[in-house]
Amino acid sequence: VKIYNTLKHKKVSFKPMAEGQVKMYTCGPTVYYFAHIGNMRSYVVADLLKRVFIYNGYKVKHIMNLTDVGHLVSDANLGEDKMRLTAHSENKSLREIADEYSELFIKDMKRLNLIMPETMPRPSEHITEILNLIEILEKKGYLYTVETGVYYDTSKFKRYGQLMNLNFEELNKYLIGGIRIERPAGTKNTTDFAVWRFVKPEEKDMVWNTKYGRGFPGWHIECSAMSMKYLGEHFDIHTGGIDHLPIHHTNEIAQSESATGKRFVNYWVHNEFLQVDGKKMSKSLRNVYTLQDLIEKGYKINSYKYLVLSAHYRTQLNFTFESLKNAENTLNGIYSFVEKLSLHGVNKENNPNPKFATLVSRIKVQFIKSINDDMNTPLALAKLHLLISKTNKKLDKLSKADTELVLEALVDFDRILGLGFSEYLKQDIPKEVEMLILEREQLRKERKFSEADKIRSILKNEHNIEIEDTEGGSIWHKA
Ligand code: AMP
Ligand code: ZN
Repeated sequence: VKIYNTLKHKKVSFKPMAEGQVKMYTCGPTVYYFAHIGNMRSYVVADLLKRVFIYNGYKVKHIMNLTDVGHLVSDANLGEDKMRLTAHSENKSLREIADEYSELFIKDMKRLNLIMPETMPRPSEHITEILNLIEILEKKGYLYTVETGVYYDTSKFKRYGQLMNLNFEELNKYLIGGIRIERPAGTKNTTDFAVWRFVKPEEKDMVWNTKYGRGFPGWHIECSAMSMKYLGEHFDIHTGGIDHLPIHHTNEIAQSESATGKRFVNYWVHNEFLQVDGKKMSKSLRNVYTLQDLIEKGYKINSYKYLVLSAHYRTQLNFTFESLKNAENTLNGIYSFVEKLSLHGVNKENNPNPKFATLVSRIKVQFIKSINDDMNTPLALAKLHLLISKTNKKLDKLSKADTELVLEALVDFDRILGLGFSEYLKQDIPKEVEMLILEREQLRKERKFSEADKIRSILKNEHNIEIEDTEGGSIWHKA
């Protein structure tokens, strides 16, 4: 498996720390609001990476957090805690908000057919681990206290900024010029960040009394403490969106490595943004859609997933409803192909064609090669379509044994794509129904529509099967 490692700024071959195993951490959502389809791109990509490893025979241990405290409105040190802001405005407790949006997020993950992480830890339940890490950093002299909290002095970490390929001064300049314009009073460097934040006395919710003061943890320390708890101080892969590069992941590396004296993570994998009208999809720009919005507009969730997979994860993807519609049409074409093929050849001799088998296995190798090459899904999907078009061209000459090879290949590809191809395999209907469907298709080809309609009624009335005619052929489902 080859993967682009942000830390090395190039594509490299993946070598696991332990033979046959991958330990992977994904920065999960801050559960203060609905995750939008831009956020979901990050989780589809993380799932894709996980599926690629599973496909290649690795055992994957995947952890993804649900941030329920500590993430400020700005990824840097400004603004209020996002969770607190929502809780106050909706007059609810932080836990109620966290529970509500965590449940919705997990529902979206399931609807997207993402393989659930082994654990989804919440920082509010890991305060001991977070405080232990803060204590180590304090003992090693990395921390100082100002009016608003306990801060990490980024000038003390030699490799600060390595993820951005910048040195300490360059990253400071980058942040002053770009993301962060002010800095909290008393802090020493623009890049310094809080590991513990103090709160006003009236604040009672998700606040802990500690020897560092009364408050709550910073967002970055949470991911360091939780990832190290579940995966060890040094593990294989960490994923997230590219907006996490200059601040969140840079800071996770700094505090983890200065605490343990070891390398924190071997491979950093970052996805590009989903955009709308050339801008990042984000709540603050009011250009967000959720999966629920797409469903309400009549789209299948898998069409969104297909759209995401049709772009390489390291390129920006501009979302439009037109592109979603195109993705849906293409995906429906694949589904009806799977249906059509599983009905094909039932009344033919079952002689396998060795030349065709070679073609199928050659395309299969190309598909896997593309997917193992830094998750090149656009190329892999092109190979899938090549298999479909080659099969369609030869369909009249193919036996059931031949088409079964194609179906096996497609179902195998779907172990990586997770688009539910096997749900469209039609093997559990009685032979006589299969024959009727095939007969009707033949009649339609011969433009004998009234006879075809008669069969449609028989299928409906006697077998409870409904037929839908699409561009890719007819699809049947139980009425
Ligand atoms: P947050 O809840 O803000 O921490 O974001 C959750 C995840 O979504 C992070 O990995 C972000 O990098 C990612 N993300 C946010 N906006 C987008 C977007 N428009 N496209 C792709 N990923 C995004
Ligand atoms: Zn994180």
